[in-house]
Amino acid sequence: RSNRRPGLLDGLDPEQRAAANAPRGPVCVLAGAGTGKTRTITHRIAHLVDSGHVAAGQVLAVTFTARAAGEMRTRLATLGVEGAQARTFHAAALRQLRYFWPRVVGDRQWDLIEGKFRMVGQAAHRAGAATESEVVRDLASEIEWAKASLVGPDDYPAVAARLQRDIPEPAARVAEVFRNYEKLKTEAQLLDFDDLLLHTTAALEEHGAVAEEFRDRYRCFVVDEYQDVTPLQQRLLDAWVGGRDDLTVVGDANQTIYSFGGASPRPLLEFTRRFPEASVIRLERDYRSTPQVVSLANQVIGAARGRPAGSRLRLVGQRPEGPQPRFAEHDDEPGEAAAVARRVRELIDSGLSASEIAILYRVNAQSEAYEQALSDVDVPYLVRGGERFFSRTEIRQAIVALRSAAANGPDGDVVDLVRQVLGRVGLTDQPPAGGAAREKWDALLALVELAEELTATVPETAGSSLARYVAELEQRAAAAHPPTVEGVTLASLHAAKGLEWDAVFLVGLAEGTLPIQHADGDDEAVEEERRLFYVGVTRAREHLSLTWSLSRKPGGRRNRRRSRFLYGLVPEDHPASRVARTGGGARVTGSKARCRVCDGLLTSTIEVKLSRCSRCPSDVDEELLDRLRSWRTGRARELKVPAYVVFTDATLIAIAEQQPADDGA
Ligand code: ATP
Ligand code: MG
Repeated sequence: RSNRRPGLLDGLDPEQRAAANAPRGPVCVLAGAGTGKTRTITHRIAHLVDSGHVAAGQVLAVTFTARAAGEMRTRLATLGVEGAQARTFHAAALRQLRYFWPRVVGDRQWDLIEGKFRMVGQAAHRAGAATESEVVRDLASEIEWAKASLVGPDDYPAVAARLQRDIPEPAARVAEVFRNYEKLKTEAQLLDFDDLLLHTTAALEEHGAVAEEFRDRYRCFVVDEYQDVTPLQQRLLDAWVGGRDDLTVVGDANQTIYSFGGASPRPLLEFTRRFPEASVIRLERDYRSTPQVVSLANQVIGAARGRPAGSRLRLVGQRPEGPQPRFAEHDDEPGEAAAVARRVRELIDSGLSASEIAILYRVNAQSEAYEQALSDVDVPYLVRGGERFFSRTEIRQAIVALRSAAANGPDGDVVDLVRQVLGRVGLTDQPPAGGAAREKWDALLALVELAEELTATVPETAGSSLARYVAELEQRAAAAHPPTVEGVTLASLHAAKGLEWDAVFLVGLAEGTLPIQHADGDDEAVEEERRLFYVGVTRAREHLSLTWSLSRKPGGRRNRRRSRFLYGLVPEDHPASRVARTGGGARVTGSKARCRVCDGLLTSTIEVKLSRCSRCPSDVDEELLDRLRSWRTGRARELKVPAYVVFTDATLIAIAEQQPADDGA
């Protein structure tokens, strides 16, 4: 059973090699961003296959985004592993369910739900709940949270009360909407994405023959980004593993960014409690980013509060020195976008490929300003995580046509088949001259290119390749991940997880956007926003730009403040630092705080929360907090604070640079 390719693990460092080389059985890799977790598990799979421990077809590797799964497939293909599955939880479940469904449910047909919001809206209407779109959106995500957390409509009110869920309607009514939605969906013979996981889990848990066949088929399980597993996904994973222990998990608790959706790093951090014999490996060397980026990342995550034990890792940069991160404050959002686009243009002109550049933001709505600005300077781009691609009429028609072609049993070259089918929905041989027709043509061509990409990276095994292509397409539609075209990536921070680019622009770093408005005042939610910021920072290999703007519209009121996460990061001598210390800052004198610009009293609006910057001694917190509290309630006449303390609230962020004097106020 010797390794057939002795050089296979040469590209790993000793710790990574230990993880890749660990004997069969449970393995857990706990490590920060860019330390090679994904690289390690793909090598581990290759090594297990190579050394005859497991056949490639018996490997099931799962992750959370379609792009990350695609990346894993590419890396496996590069390592010469053919036939191992690398999918998202949803795609894996979809595939298994399709296969097992006839045996489990019989010939009742089902389809994936489209227009979920409409159905939740209907369900809300029947329950007498509000039906405005924002409320329906909140209800839909609350139902998603409940399903991901394995909470049914009957248990929901009690759980919602215990966890003090922030919901737009009374819990009993939310439960009613939930119940109605499930009923409407079942009547229409539709499944949503969580149903895929629920039904697959049930099939494995309740049908012995199904479980047996499955266990025979898959013997080795690997989970990337395990810090973001939901209870529902964990349950499915348990059903897959089925009491065996050939499970490798890797993750970084500091990158938990889906806890709003029910995810938790606990299964990662408690892995050894469950598998005491597990090999646990920690990685600290950061191979992705320059020391400049790594140092910023360490600062960002070092400022996090309430980090669970086991998540305190410090990254050590391995790459050569690079440029310092750039910070820039702009008057307004279009100005910010234009400046970013100009810088992108510069980078491209200096030889960087557009596909090595990403612009990352908190919410998808932010992409518009950047799309405009990039078009203005003639830079190609692709929007990831945007539903736009999949909501295009021709793409929806194309998917329907492809699905029915796949269902009718197809034979032949998948690229040819896709071309034929798309010809029917308007893909001509030659591109139209321009305008909307050209955009439509480009979109359809991207589907053909996806087929080309798939046939190049995913080797054929049994089954119809057109069906596999359609499954991939559906999975991408679910993850709102359009097929790749060459261009600058525009993506939300959530969609950027696990990925990397030479140059990364983190934009819109203003209070209310990052942290997002509704997180304000909720410590845990703010910490999740901070982790999101950490995920963003750690996507950059070399160039990192952090930008924000003070007003949304040109000429608008400059009433936005830069993100609290930037405090302590912007170098002292940076112009933006001076701005923050004057405009928007405050001067603390005695029991009063005054605006640095107009000297107006701020005391009446101050709600003091304390966060320590990286330079504060750690022992001042409690005592200082006490003094702040009594200062606030007016009991103390004097406030003595060390330098660099940051006060935050909805209206003020101030850096007290000196110890305030007692002015006798
Ligand atoms: P994330 O937490 O962001 O998902 P990760 O830990 O999965 O990060 P990888 O994506 O596997 O990190 O690796 C980051 C980068 O570093 C990749 O470009 C990878 O090829 C490179 N890398 C990892 N390990 C090594 C190594 N031992 N030698 C050289 N390059 C490496
Ligand atoms: Mg990774």
